[in-house]
Amino acid sequence: MQGLNHFEEKHQKIVVVNWVLGNRCNYKCSYCPQELHDSSEDDFYHPEYFPLIQKFSSEIISQIKMRDSEKEVCFLFSGGEITLYVKYFELLEYIKSLGGKVAIVSNGSRPIEFWKNNKNFLDHLALSFHPQYSQIDHFKEIINLLGNHLPIHVNIMMDPQRFDYCKKVAQELATCAHPFSISLQPLLRDLGSTLYDYTSEQLKVLKNYSSSFHENFSLPSKINKKQFSYRGDMMIENFNKENHGEKISAGELIARGKNKWTGMQCNAGLENIIIDLDGEVYRSWCFLQEDHPTKKEGHIGNILEPHFKLPNDSILCKKKYCHCTLDIMCTKKSL
Ligand code: SF4
Ligand code: SF4
Repeated sequence: MQGLNHFEEKHQKIVVVNWVLGNRCNYKCSYCPQELHDSSEDDFYHPEYFPLIQKFSSEIISQIKMRDSEKEVCFLFSGGEITLYVKYFELLEYIKSLGGKVAIVSNGSRPIEFWKNNKNFLDHLALSFHPQYSQIDHFKEIINLLGNHLPIHVNIMMDPQRFDYCKKVAQELATCAHPFSISLQPLLRDLGSTLYDYTSEQLKVLKNYSSSFHENFSLPSKINKKQFSYRGDMMIENFNKENHGEKISAGELIARGKNKWTGMQCNAGLENIIIDLDGEVYRSWCFLQEDHPTKKEGHIGNILEPHFKLPNDSILCKKKYCHCTLDIMCTKKSL
């Protein structure tokens, strides 16, 4: 049997609901498609939608629990820049009141006072370091402020034009006193399947970044085991072959071009649920078909219509590549 599994057993018990709530952002990163930051689809930011968002959140938790009462539900909010959402704290508080876990992906740009208020609401913080805009000292301040309260993961967006600077950022952040983890995130053109033009030296770093720094240096990869994490490294299942059991990150799989599971059964929809900018709900970001002009493959419903039903089965992968890190971090098995 071949496939990909979670390295840590606890991640098998977590369903991640990744909700892209709007495309409002205060940055314009050169590698970010315009539609992800130009505020063209931020209707759901309007307070009048908040009751609908609450209703859908409650319904999705109860459906996941009905499917398997042992599962824990983690809402992973992203954007755009999710911390710009006007009802940000109310939303986090509401999910917590339902018993859900809350994680966000943020560019970290809000002032330190804002981050102080997150201590009681967030279960996990994923910070993206964008080398065009992000400040090392500000990231250090956030890590030092929150590192003892919640698990923090930093993705450094490895812009090939600023690659050496990005490596320096990783080394500087590693001096923070608190436990957190870092990934060097390879960039894909237009969030598709093609890597940016990295040099062979740069690719070498990305393929095995934990051992790519100098001899006595290692990137922080430890989050306190008692702390919550919704996803983490994966494990290659390739029984009777050399790399069976190898621990590997989603970024390393992409950089090595090993992010292909065509013809395997995939747990997208069972382990992950996706909510797109327009409120459409899917199993995964791949939309499950090589060509998806209508985006209907893997479609589950819309947050404005309460009559949706979550799938109960895994699905056959028909894609050539699996390019979203969250899509990668769910179980795949050969038949
Ligand atoms: S911070 Fe994120 S959403 Fe904003 S422009 Fe950069 S990549 Fe795009
Ligand atoms: S491309 Fe889609 S179906 Fe295929 S492995 Fe990735 S998430 Fe699963």
